[in-house]
Amino acid sequence: MVPRRSPKSEPQLRIGAHVGGGLAGHVDRAKKSGADTIQIFASNPRGWAEISVNEAADAAFRERMEKAGIGPLFIHAPYLVNIASPNLEFIAKSIKNASWTMQRAQSLGAAGVIVHAGAAGPGVARADALARAAASLLLILESTETPFLVVELTAGGSNTIASAWPMAAELLDACDAHGRIRFCFDTCHAHAAGYDLSNKVGTDACWAELDRDIGIDRLLVVHANDSRDASGSRRDRHAHIGDGTIGEDGFGALLSHEFARRVPWIVETPPTRQPEDIARLRALANA
Ligand SMILES: [Zn+2]
Repeated sequence: MVPRRSPKSEPQLRIGAHVGGGLAGHVDRAKKSGADTIQIFASNPRGWAEISVNEAADAAFRERMEKAGIGPLFIHAPYLVNIASPNLEFIAKSIKNASWTMQRAQSLGAAGVIVHAGAAGPGVARADALARAAASLLLILESTETPFLVVELTAGGSNTIASAWPMAAELLDACDAHGRIRFCFDTCHAHAAGYDLSNKVGTDACWAELDRDIGIDRLLVVHANDSRDASGSRRDRHAHIGDGTIGEDGFGALLSHEFARRVPWIVETPPTRQPEDIARLRALANA
């Protein structure tokens, strides 16, 4: 075990992983990989179907999480969800599914539900795309009272709603800065979107822009993924921590910033090497 440094002045950094499989096995899988916080899917990530819910199973899950000291919990909405889709049927399904996921989050005691910022597709004016995405977010927020709705910035692409912090600020404004909207900083996406996270100059600039545009208190979680592609590539292909173009230097620089310890870090890499990815992040955080 890598010793964990937790000086009184700095909060303990929580590092975890996205774990798959069923509810009953999540805590064991998290423990095996050395995770102290987790992200899960509440249903098939590549479909719309809602699963049947069992209150006793939810209660047992919450109890296992608490006993193991694992948390906070995040739920990632299915990949199909697009809050800015120009297709009416698709956007209705997105809102319905994300709302259901918010209810699951409430029942499971999750801190938040993560949705991708989405894309409006070609030919849609920015103002219209933003208005549509904001309307979707506000409708999804109406479905529950507690968990945060967390918008994950994307790697860029066709009329993306938010792949950079100034764009996230526009979305937040379009939602009248709703009190339950938070953001997710995915390091692979940000690197692909053009923030060079391979060195201290680039990582400090990214943290500073984040704080300037949305305010650090609006950040709820970091998705820690290395990137297989160059900064600015707009490609979203995750690599294991230290093996990609962000590299150990980049993650070390990201983790050395005062903002880094304020939120949990979750790796979204293939499960076989998640224990290694978590250990690497922990070692870099403690270096
Ligand atoms: Zn992510």
